[in-house]
Order: sequence, then C-alpha cells, then structure tokens
Amino acid sequence: MRIITTAGEMRRTVEERRSAGETVGLVPTMGFFHRGHISLMRVARHECGFVVVSLFVNPTQFAPGEDLEDYPRDLSRDVEMASEAGVDCIFHPRVEEMYPEPYLTYVAVEGITERLCGAARPGHFRGVATVVAKLFNIIPAHRAYFGLKDAQQVQVIRKMARDLDFDIHIVACPTVREEDGLAMSSRNIYLEAKEREATTVLYRSLRLAERLVAQGERDAAKITEGMRALIAQEPLVQPEYIEAVDWELLAPVQRLRGQVLFALAARVGKARLIDNVLVEVED
Ligand code: AMP
Repeated sequence: MRIITTAGEMRRTVEERRSAGETVGLVPTMGFFHRGHISLMRVARHECGFVVVSLFVNPTQFAPGEDLEDYPRDLSRDVEMASEAGVDCIFHPRVEEMYPEPYLTYVAVEGITERLCGAARPGHFRGVATVVAKLFNIIPAHRAYFGLKDAQQVQVIRKMARDLDFDIHIVACPTVREEDGLAMSSRNIYLEAKEREATTVLYRSLRLAERLVAQGERDAAKITEGMRALIAQEPLVQPEYIEAVDWELLAPVQRLRGQVLFALAARVGKARLIDNVLVEVED
C-alpha cells in the first residue's frame, strides 16, 4: 500500500489507473479507524479496481473551541488497518498542502446545512463541502463512499456533487454499531466508563422511534417526545437535538410519510455524539 502526501502525485497516480481502465474508489476519512471506516473500505474494495483512502483531519470543519487539537490520531495503526482491508493507497496530505496560504475559496451548500448539526456547528458543513470538493478534484474517482452515521453529511455531499457537476457516484453505507448499539465513532474514545454505559440510550431511542412507526404512529412530535423522555432517564446524556426530518431536504416533518430520518445529537461528557435511523413510512 502506498502513502502519498502531495496533491500532484496523487492526481497523477489516479489518472494513470483511470487510463488503464480501472474503476477508482475514494473513502474520505479523518483517520483513527474503527469498524465503521473499515466497512466503507471493504465495500470500495469489492466494487473498485483501485481504492484510495484519504486521511486528513480537516481544520476548516472544526469551529474555534472544538476538538481539532484533541482529535484522536494514530497513523501507524491506521496504515496497518487500511492495508489489511485491501486499500491500495492512502492520501495523507499536510494542512499546508490542502490549504496553501492565503487560502480564499470555500464551497457552501445552502438550506440543508442550516439544520440539525449545521445549526449547532456553524461553518461545519462549509468546511466539509470544501475539503470533499478538493478531494474529488485531487482524486478523480468514479465512486466515493460515505457512512450513513453522518446522514446529513451524505446529503450535503450528494447535493454538492450534483449542483457542481462532479462526475462521481456517491455511495452511502450503513452505520456500523457496537454490540450494545452505540454507533462507532472515533470520538467514542472520549467517553469514560459510566458515560459509555449511558450512551446506549441513544440507539434505544432510535429503535423506539422505529417501533412506534411500525405500530402506526404518524405524528412526528409524539415520537420525538417519546425519544426525549427515554433519553431524559440518563442524566449523563444531554440531547442537543432530536428531530424527524424528510430525507431529501432534511426539513422538519409533522406527519410522517415517505423516507423520514430520525436524527439526534447529544453531549456525553467531553464527547458530542450523533446517530440516526432512516425509516420508510407506509401511508
Ligand atoms: P470520519 O473519519 O469520522 O470523518 O468518518 C469517515 C467516514 O466514515 C465518513 O463517511 C463517516 O460517515 C464514516 N463512518 C464513521 N463512523 C461510521 C460508522 N459507525 N458506520 C459507518 N460509517 C461510519
């Protein structure tokens, strides 16, 4: 497995593979791999001839005061895990390579970035869209793989790719969970033992939403109130938002129909955790 650090060498490498007729897959990440990341790499490995994983803790998606400096990093372990998953190449640029001074250009996806995580983290999705647009240019892949754990991110990237005419297919992969339901995340490492136990209430609340929908409940507020009441039983878990939104535009829904995303964010100790389930509601 090769490790490439410059945009020029990365682009040349991918262009050679494309000319040789290979399908190129890209998995953008911030590293500190867990089974969620590995699942994306394995899908890419299955579908593509050449698989690139980008590993870059992107400073523009962190607001001042967020955990940019503390974000967990372990390059040698990541290299080993990616290699084991059959990845061909890791793109690991330095910050100056991605954001040469003076850096002046950003990508802003409107509307759907203003709700959910976008409301709590202003500028976050501008940073995400900018870095992913840059990665799509540096690594002209046929397919790019994202996890539904970050459901809003998937929709932001889909809209950006469509609106800016990126010729790339966005593949959304299912959320990988711990045995007790907690969605895997690099940030789970921030949790202390008691907090880690308390986090199981998040996925239980999402399963409650699924169950209520299956039982015929169509009033979104009734369901999110039920979720809120369940989460309130865990004082270590402080919800930031608990919402039912339509899957296309992530707008709040009152009556459930079509594809509905139940999404939540919560603070647990030092960690800010997000999770969601996507539900197909029959009329
Ligand atoms: P990150 O390194 O946290 O930026 O994540 C890189 C990619 O892995 C993103 O597309 C995430 O949505 C995806 N990802 C992170 N956690 C999970 C998970 N538990 N299951 C599936 N995909 C995930």
